[in-house]
Amino acid sequence: MKPAAFEYIVADSVEMAVASLAQAGDAKIIAGGQSLVPMLNFRLLRPSVLVDINRIPDLAYVREDGGVIRIGALTRHHQLETSPVIARHFPVLTEAMAHVAHLAIRNRGTIGGSLSHADPAAELPMMTLLLDAELRVVSAKGARTVAARDFFRDALSVDLAEDEIVTEVVLPKLPNTGWGFAEVARRSGDFALAAVAATLTLSDGKIARARVAMTGVAPTARRVTEAERLLIGQRLDDGVDSDVIEAVRAATEPPTDLHASAEYRRHLVGVLAGRALAAAWGRA
Ligand SMILES: Cc1cc2nc3c(=O)[nH]c(=O)nc-3n(C[C@H](O)[C@H](O)[C@H](O)COP(=O)(O)OP(=O)(O)OC[C@H]3O[C@@H](n4cnc5c(N)ncnc54)[C@H](O)[C@@H]3O)c2cc1C
Repeated sequence: MKPAAFEYIVADSVEMAVASLAQAGDAKIIAGGQSLVPMLNFRLLRPSVLVDINRIPDLAYVREDGGVIRIGALTRHHQLETSPVIARHFPVLTEAMAHVAHLAIRNRGTIGGSLSHADPAAELPMMTLLLDAELRVVSAKGARTVAARDFFRDALSVDLAEDEIVTEVVLPKLPNTGWGFAEVARRSGDFALAAVAATLTLSDGKIARARVAMTGVAPTARRVTEAERLLIGQRLDDGVDSDVIEAVRAATEPPTDLHASAEYRRHLVGVLAGRALAAAWGRA
């Protein structure tokens, strides 16, 4: 199929992009096009206007700014994967990016597009939840900040009005913290059947702060706060307690589809949580 006809606007500034969105009503932004173009071609979406943000200057960057790292919405997946700033401050994100699709897709896909699209098995929503990210969102009416934990509502559904655009993702630095990432996909580059990312911060040799996030096993990526709570005060020299693994499994609502059953995904995510936490403990 080919997309239904649309008007095509190339925005040269964020102001022009949000003005075009406000004017058209049913307009869509196109960033990397890796998720949007298939949806247009299948006619699952029929916007009257496409607003191309690819030529907006200074919307693709990774910048250190005091206690945070700022990432422009148009930053391509491959830029994140190869960024020395990300590798230094968030090696868990560098690792995760290698699992996002194939290199050709990572060369085009953007962080703003992945978060706004919010595929239930995508890695970046999980990583922004894990890293307590905030998103900067702009419309013709002004700007606002939304925490990642409030952004993802349901499968392919986020806290973003039709006239709003994500411009920046802000990650607070996380020093002296061990990390782990574990994913299973049917083939390299496929969406995850399940993936888990974890960080552990120690104090006096025990876990003082734990973060566990997962994707592919619920309508949206999720943090597992119950598992995080159980980990506080523990050491993982003898492995991860079964109650932590069960807390991860209990927080899932996995789908059954042609790739895997819900039971398999629930089992798998527990195994992956054990691996991610063991790796995080080793590094911490
Ligand atoms: C074969 C294949 C395999 C893939 N595998 C994976 C995978 O394993 N893991 C994974 O995470 N992803 C995967 N993807 C998706 C890929 O990562 C996309 O890049 C990503 O989902 C969307 O980013 P994009 O920049 O291409 O967005 P687009 O396709 O341009 O847009 C997607 C949606 O977001 C909106 N949008 C885009 N930018 C903004 C913005 N700044 N503000 C507000 N709204 C915006 C668009 O209007 C549209 O609704 C895969 C894609 C393909 C085709």
